[in-house]
Amino acid sequence: MRLGGVVIRIVIDPGHGGKDPGAAGNGLLEKNINLEISRRLAKNLSDYDVEVILTRDSDLYSDLADRCAMANKVKAHYFCSIHVNSGGGTGFESYIYSGAKADTENLRNTVHGAVAAYLRDAGFVDRGKKKADFYVLRETIMPAVLLENLFIDHKIDAASLKNPAFLDGLARAITGGLATALGLQPKISPASPPEKTGATPVKTAATAGTSQARAFLAAKNPKAPDYVQIYADLGAKYGIRWDAVFAQSCKETGFWKFGGLVKPEQNNFAGLGSFGGQKGASFATPSDGIEAQFQHWHVYYYGGNLPAGTKVLDPRRDAVIKSGWAGKLQYVEDLGGRWAPSADYGSSIVNDYMKVMQSLEVQTPAQPTSKPWDPAAEIAQLKAEGLIDSDHKPQDLVTWGEMATVLNRLRRQIKK
Ligand SMILES: [Zn+2]
Repeated sequence: MRLGGVVIRIVIDPGHGGKDPGAAGNGLLEKNINLEISRRLAKNLSDYDVEVILTRDSDLYSDLADRCAMANKVKAHYFCSIHVNSGGGTGFESYIYSGAKADTENLRNTVHGAVAAYLRDAGFVDRGKKKADFYVLRETIMPAVLLENLFIDHKIDAASLKNPAFLDGLARAITGGLATALGLQPKISPASPPEKTGATPVKTAATAGTSQARAFLAAKNPKAPDYVQIYADLGAKYGIRWDAVFAQSCKETGFWKFGGLVKPEQNNFAGLGSFGGQKGASFATPSDGIEAQFQHWHVYYYGGNLPAGTKVLDPRRDAVIKSGWAGKLQYVEDLGGRWAPSADYGSSIVNDYMKVMQSLEVQTPAQPTSKPWDPAAEIAQLKAEGLIDSDHKPQDLVTWGEMATVLNRLRRQIKK
């Protein structure tokens, strides 16, 4: 995004460093976590049209005056300082300068909201939007925010701070907040994304047939309910290949045997919201549950706009949008690592489910091409249309005179 022809510039400030470790607890040093989060943040922001400057990109000491001078010198549009809290609390809080103006406050509200939403989903409290006379907030001439991301000396907080996937998500939440606050635009990618040979596009029509899906499921679980047509119909509605979504359900429900935390009566066939020991979302009907799953794929592929008039059913929708991963999924294989925790999640859906399903040879019942032959009805139709006058039985013999008459009457009708 450009402001009056100027590229937007963000300074990311990983707090502490070098001889200044910051807070410590549970085997962690604050300076290292701050850098971990900041590096991820800078990497994520490289997807946007924005210039990112880190006040430090290694374990180096830099005093607060130097950090502010750096941001002031490059005339940054925003300053975002990354810290971890300590002192016997838990959760997230953000700071702006006590004398901050309204624009600083507005920007902070957006960033704070995005981060707090991610952390709330992960079970952490929002300690609120605060103001303080912190050096880096006071001495920077641009709007500035300081994020205190959980407490290093709290056991549960620290456990999350040790988890790289958690830090990835946290950085994505901050990225999403900054992108929204500053109106950052994704970098313009080449007209069409490069084709990945052999990968499985999310958007195309399904390559498995409904009878293959039924056979695939029945072979693994003959008692499984038949929702295949619901998947096929919703695939058409949402523009997402239904065979991939169906395959995901087979994987998540163990072919509708439900061995995990999610129970059949929840109608949740994709484990939506069932991470971290939570039992996950429940839906009123199987159709609603499957539609929520399609909406989840839809936001991955298409981003924030659902088909017109569609009721939002996906409980994870806002989290996906805030994470910055909305609208970016191209291939089923790419689900792993970004949209799902395990790296091979997407390739497992393709190789262990979709490919097997697509390779099944299914006998399609012969389709009757027309109604059964009904000679009496044919004769009745000739009479009704005036081609014959008298009643006839199907087995009556026909004279040449009668046949010539029928043909000539027919010819006259056609000529009219
Ligand atoms: Zn700190």
